[in-house]
Amino acid sequence: MSTLALAFDLGGTELRGALVERSGDVVARVSEPTLAGAGSEAVIGQIIVLAGKLLKEHPQARVIGIGACAPGPLDPKAGIVIGPPTLAGWHNVPMIDILSRQFGRPVRLENDANAAALGEWRFGAGRGAASMVFVTVSTGIGGGVIADGHIYHGRRGLAAEIGHMTITGEGDRCFCGNVGCFEAVASGTALGRRATRLTKPGDGSQLRRLSNDGDVSARHVIEAARTGDAAALGLVEAEAKWLGIGFTNLLHLYSPEVIVMGGGLANGFDLLAPGIRATIEERAMQAYRDVPIVPAELGDRAGLVGAASLILWEGEPGTALAMVQNDETKNGAGEKPGAREASHG
Ligand SMILES: [Zn+2]
Repeated sequence: MSTLALAFDLGGTELRGALVERSGDVVARVSEPTLAGAGSEAVIGQIIVLAGKLLKEHPQARVIGIGACAPGPLDPKAGIVIGPPTLAGWHNVPMIDILSRQFGRPVRLENDANAAALGEWRFGAGRGAASMVFVTVSTGIGGGVIADGHIYHGRRGLAAEIGHMTITGEGDRCFCGNVGCFEAVASGTALGRRATRLTKPGDGSQLRRLSNDGDVSARHVIEAARTGDAAALGLVEAEAKWLGIGFTNLLHLYSPEVIVMGGGLANGFDLLAPGIRATIEERAMQAYRDVPIVPAELGDRAGLVGAASLILWEGEPGTALAMVQNDETKNGAGEKPGAREASHG
């Protein structure tokens, strides 16, 4: 068995662990609900148990280190989880110190959005790009920026909080306290809220039928739009416009070679893409308009493989083109290593 990393993706609802190969292939995966209200010691205990499970199933694994990602704010250099709003009782937890003492191996830490950006860049939809912006659109909006072959960290690793860039002066208040954040108008939550306001329980609309007369979610909107429902199609058009405005800002700020869109709403990417494109055509300066906007490829393993690559690809640029070509030769023409996932476990 080749060299592996143990990877952990610590989320507010789910804790995922995996054994990952240098190619980005996932050899084994485990997960369980995060004890999000129980404090850092309990959750780190969960990580240790999951690690034990993975190593027991694969006793021959040559694990060279641990890559972990967690919600921000966190300081990747110092290895400290500063205090994520979704995890109770986490205040300046020295994750790298704790895990390296536990496992006796090198540990690297990154925030979850940056880790997912790394995953998509090294193994997924951003392969081969020197600069890339990854945007995840689901309950909120998060992102990571790869600039000239590196994650763009900024002061204390806090850069690229793109969900909270102000893109309008109106609308619902964001949980951060501001009005007009990208996330407040363009997240899946915002789309669901607009759909809920547009309809009423018992009005017989397709949206309310799908939601069983409860609150309408972004998923219901996409589902209804696929059947040609006019109200849903209107909501999708408005959503695509907001995404297009945000993406235009990202193009102007970072000049990426590609924007990769992930998160739950990427399930409706085909429906949203024409409106996103049209908005970019209308708003972006000429030189930025030809940048591809593509859906993410790795789904919910982007963070895991990105975190693993902190160990397995340490000190290397993401994707020298020569390396991509070698991998393609090895794996068969055109096939991306990240697109395959081993089916053990
Ligand atoms: Zn905000």
